[in-house]
Amino acid sequence: MSSKPQVPTFEVFCRLAEEFSPCMNDYLFVCDFVRDVYYITENAMARFLLPSNMFDNVTETLRGFVSPDDFPMLELDLMQINSGKKDHHNLEYRWIARDGSPVWINCRGRVIRNPDGSPALMVGCINEIGNQQKADNVSGLPGESFLREHMQMMKPLLTGGILMRLGIDDFKVINERHGIEYGNFVLKKVADCIQQSLGPLQYAYRIVSDEYIVLDASGSPVESMNLLYHRIRSAVDHLVEKECYKALYTISGGIVPLGQVDAATEEEILKLTEFSLAEAKNRGKNQVYLFNNDDYQIFLRRRYIRSCLRRSIARNFEGFELYYQPIVMSGGEELYAAEALLRYSTPEGDAIPPYELIPILEDSGLIVPVGKWIIRNALDMCMRCRKKYPDFRVSINLSYIQLLKSPLFEEIMDALAQSSLPPSCLIVELTESGHLENSPVVQNVWNKLRNIDVNIAIDDFGTGYSNLQNIGSLRPNIVKIDRSFTSKALQNEYEFELLIHIIRMVHSIGLCLVVEGIETQDELTKVTSLKPDYIQGYFYSMPCPKDEFLKKFGLSVA
Ligand code: C2E
Ligand code: MG
Ligand code: MG
Repeated sequence: MSSKPQVPTFEVFCRLAEEFSPCMNDYLFVCDFVRDVYYITENAMARFLLPSNMFDNVTETLRGFVSPDDFPMLELDLMQINSGKKDHHNLEYRWIARDGSPVWINCRGRVIRNPDGSPALMVGCINEIGNQQKADNVSGLPGESFLREHMQMMKPLLTGGILMRLGIDDFKVINERHGIEYGNFVLKKVADCIQQSLGPLQYAYRIVSDEYIVLDASGSPVESMNLLYHRIRSAVDHLVEKECYKALYTISGGIVPLGQVDAATEEEILKLTEFSLAEAKNRGKNQVYLFNNDDYQIFLRRRYIRSCLRRSIARNFEGFELYYQPIVMSGGEELYAAEALLRYSTPEGDAIPPYELIPILEDSGLIVPVGKWIIRNALDMCMRCRKKYPDFRVSINLSYIQLLKSPLFEEIMDALAQSSLPPSCLIVELTESGHLENSPVVQNVWNKLRNIDVNIAIDDFGTGYSNLQNIGSLRPNIVKIDRSFTSKALQNEYEFELLIHIIRMVHSIGLCLVVEGIETQDELTKVTSLKPDYIQGYFYSMPCPKDEFLKKFGLSVA
């Protein structure tokens, strides 16, 4: 009589796994300890760096696609199973994906033993730990992986489709003030507002924390998405009202019409929705923004410059340079000071002009380390120039952000102490900001700088609308007339008359005045007749690199 197999055979389990596999995203495996063979369902081949979905010499072959850091742990576990010490396997470790990246998996298996107790087979399942949840239990909406699948499935239909990413403005504040539970309630209610506002062939998904996406496959024009946004917005307004204004929040939206953008993959399209929602928020929130490629190119360029700046700063300010432009005594031609003007070239050699550079430095906060670098370098230059011109001063431009974000006063004190220069050798130029002049932080730094004798200059005088007020609040020693005002005054009688009166007024309250932007001898003659204190302009010199400036004024370069 032939004896029946004691346990189902390896082949039987493989066949079963193959049948179940199309119904699941996980990977089923069978390992035969006697023949040293391993089988895993076909779907694993597309994801991991496997030689085949059936292989022998199991432990050594596994070594080829298990992360080297995790392999010893796996090997130990397999040895314990083989020696009969364990009858289950439950490990979290990393397999190498086809693209070479490590993927966290959870591998669980059960050992099936022969009647004599020796391990015969292990059957089990591998799942990717990082796999996103398909549906979101807070909002009740499908999640991002569903959206991606739907976009894949509907690809042919989507050439006229539209995506709109929606985000609750300042959602963090709701969580902080009212707790996570109320936050979850808001997320669910906003999801309901979105869902109720949808028309035919419009689908909603929840993406990350407080963001949702609506996919419109109806082929309607963009205007219909705009209307949908407004329907959702008023539903959210009603919700806030119904909740008796317990928490005040609004919703922003970014619309991306798929037929009008140059994005091939779901990944790229989702990036454009991220950008569009961020634009809506940057422009003041509670509004909708329609994707515009020109805006996107500006965004990409700013992002590129920001990353170059970070790299350069990390490499000891590589690519940064200070140019110097002389400020000369009016009438006497004697060198009074130099203004330090920032220049920057990316590692690729792309020179970024100051009007583009300074706002990026300010927005990113990078003006803080760069500002500190400027102070030290400018004072170093001043020290060198004082060897020939003992009263030489250096003038630096300060940004309000720098004033608010960094311990500017202490930084200036440190740099002065290191250079052993007197505070009076430094001029700080401040451009009008429109609202920060009266901030207590700014006033405090200002008072301290004034008290130690650092010179304070109001830059760009004649371009803003409250310059006179700033003379009152900032109490400067120097006023710098902007080049744009100078050129108007040189061309037109009325502005010239105004310049005469400004100079008189500034002198009458005991301040000094610099006229900027003098380019020709004629201009110099005309302006000198008004007896300003100092002149700055291309007539004397354009801003130039340190060594060129030193040579120009007879100083040694070494
Ligand atoms: P600003 O402080 O008013 O600097 C004077 C600007 O006028 C400089 O432009 C200079 O090259 C230009 N200029 C001077 N004389 C003449 C002239 O005769 N003709 C003409 N056409 N232009 C003249 P630049 O270097 O491009 O700087 C532009 C602005 O960028 C500066 O205006 C300043 O507001 C800002 N900036 C430059 N460096 C820094 C810095 O280190 N920190 C901060 N916060 N801002 C800076
Ligand atoms: Mg300036
Ligand atoms: Mg200026």
